[in-house]
Amino acid sequence: MPLGNPKTSTGSANINSPVTTPFSLRTIPRDQHTISRKDISPNALRVLYRLRDAGFGAYLVGGAVRDLLVAGRPKDFDVATSATPEEVKHLFRNCRLIGRRFRLAHVVFGREIIEVATFRANSDDGSGDREMENGMLVRDNVYGSIEDDAVRRDFTCNALYYAIEDFSVRDYVGGFEDVQARLMKLIGDPEQRYQEDPVRMLRAVRLAAKLDFEIEAATAAPIPRLAGLLADSAPARLFEEVLKLFLSGHAVASFEGLERYGLLAVLFPETAAALKSNRSGALRRMLIEGLRNTDTRVANDEPVSPAFLFALLLWPAFCRSMILLQKQGLAPEEAQRRAADRVTLHQLTTIALPRRFSLPMQEIWLLQSRFSSRQRKRVIRTLSHPRFRAAFDFLVLRQTASSEHADDIAFWQLTQQQSVHEFDPSADVSLIDEGGEGDAPRRRRRRRRTSSGGVASGE
Ligand code: ATP
Ligand code: MG
Repeated sequence: MPLGNPKTSTGSANINSPVTTPFSLRTIPRDQHTISRKDISPNALRVLYRLRDAGFGAYLVGGAVRDLLVAGRPKDFDVATSATPEEVKHLFRNCRLIGRRFRLAHVVFGREIIEVATFRANSDDGSGDREMENGMLVRDNVYGSIEDDAVRRDFTCNALYYAIEDFSVRDYVGGFEDVQARLMKLIGDPEQRYQEDPVRMLRAVRLAAKLDFEIEAATAAPIPRLAGLLADSAPARLFEEVLKLFLSGHAVASFEGLERYGLLAVLFPETAAALKSNRSGALRRMLIEGLRNTDTRVANDEPVSPAFLFALLLWPAFCRSMILLQKQGLAPEEAQRRAADRVTLHQLTTIALPRRFSLPMQEIWLLQSRFSSRQRKRVIRTLSHPRFRAAFDFLVLRQTASSEHADDIAFWQLTQQQSVHEFDPSADVSLIDEGGEGDAPRRRRRRRRTSSGGVASGE
């Protein structure tokens, strides 16, 4: 699958430079590997068979082969073929061609799309538009052989081909052994491959986290030194990659990997700095707890929200900015609003967080200061806020870092048991301080339902 749009002018001189390491083909016959057709999407099989019957080479490739070999369930099934996109289109009525210069075929089966790519010789990430430099075409995409197609891929485990003609796995880069050894290993010279596309550093960490693989020594070694190159990657692509790192069920492992290889400091500089200076480890506990909750939710098929994730990851930046603004003499409320805006604005230039996520992220932050109020009208307003649930979950998370929120949590836990619509102004929420804003007589509050806080929920 293409990975979003890298910047059109990367300025990198060695994009598409050939990978020099010589490789030879190893064929792993059906009885020596574990990939079974029953684990492959029937639609992908249909595509493979029809291509083969038409006389073309047809292979399952990339993440699907890798995941099947480690007994995982692939997200999607990509096909590589010797047929050109036009030839593919000719074979399938339900096919549309996408991509501007590098054409890909999508064969559409209801909600499932099988991506069919013609073998090609150049090394990029599939977005097809990165080789423009100052408006000039530096290098076009060229179709190639299956060997060319294998070596332009990133990691050896991602360059395995499952052949429909004999159900064997074709390995041109030593990937089969690396999968058995659970190793992420870049094809070719690691430094050069990271310079071609710095996002590969994030992919190394992400896939190692997802698959529980080690990053091979030579592949890991240049990362801390080259981490800074990521800052030049397209902010929208980084956003997509961050979502995959943290919302796919392995957020804690991803976070630890990013930290270990110096990538966190490039992606989230203020978070990394705050973690370093926070000797008590409280901030770290809060972050890890939030990410662990996210992983649990993904494992339970519960929804997870980018807004909550970014509220968590950028919380240290928000706090720091707010403290600075207050020191400059701004009133707390104004300082909060400005800090939220500043952090959001800055984020657009690094990891582009779309507005539909940054707005609820800001609301989660801004609601935090409302939790200490006990005034009836304010309590009602806070309760009925669309981001209340997420903000409250966030407050609970903050408790991992500091016990000072215990009273507020107890209060809001009790209070929200009475939903806003049912809120009876004459009923007593005994903890509510009338504060001059309400004059209802006191009665015993009723208990309705217990809340079941889902930490990454709600936006
Ligand atoms: P997953 O889908 O589990 O996130 P994946 O490896 O399938 O992992 P995709 O982004 O779907 O990731 O990419 C499909 C394949 O395309 C990869 O397996 C790899 O062979 C190739 N690829 C993806 N990104 C790059 C890249 N930046 N450089 C080189 N090859 C890449
Ligand atoms: Mg994939």
